[in-house]
Amino acid sequence: MKLERILPFAKKLLKKTVTRGAVVVDATLGNGHDTVFLADLVGENGRVYGFDVQEDAIQSSSERLKHHGFENRVTIFHAGHEQLSQLIPDEHHGKVTAAIFNLGYLPGSDKTIVTKPETTIAAIQQLLEIMLPEGIIILVIYHGHAEGAVERDALLTYCHEIDQKKAHVLQYRFINQQNNPPFIVAIEKR
Ligand code: SAM
Repeated sequence: MKLERILPFAKKLLKKTVTRGAVVVDATLGNGHDTVFLADLVGENGRVYGFDVQEDAIQSSSERLKHHGFENRVTIFHAGHEQLSQLIPDEHHGKVTAAIFNLGYLPGSDKTIVTKPETTIAAIQQLLEIMLPEGIIILVIYHGHAEGAVERDALLTYCHEIDQKKAHVLQYRFINQQNNPPFIVAIEKR
């Protein structure tokens, strides 16, 4: 297939945006796959701030980072991403260049712990304040589960209403696939 698939497209956007030494956010650590990808992009002088509310996710991400030798470039918060502007140190406010949210539940773990529209939107609002212009927020929206469909609708409503003078908002989505595959919303601060 020539059309770029969803997850490779998300990575391509991150690669384009994140330079060596950058400050970035993984808003949903999960098993730490995106964190490792970001830690590699920012290099040893960069900083990744990672958030998750689940102990399992914190453990699994920490182990994965150690395995790659990236633990010193990542600060992990066992906290919801809705607290990000409070937890990311002031010295990095105004310097964040990218953030990724892999929404939904952690595969192979407790499916009752899911991301929620109110907290996801609160985190996006805070990021828009503390990001540099041309900083990008990527939302990977999983809407195959009941709460995911609710979150999708709330996020699309919110994103449609973001003032175009403040951000460019893109939706990247295959529209004829079965079983509600994930899709992307990318928000670039102006
Ligand atoms: N990016 C991850 C990876 O590479 O493995 C997968 C993330 S998983 C789809 C979603 C994660 O969001 C879960 O680990 C869940 O605990 C976490 N989560 C749910 N609510 C959250 C919140 N308010 N703040 C941060 N993380 C949250």
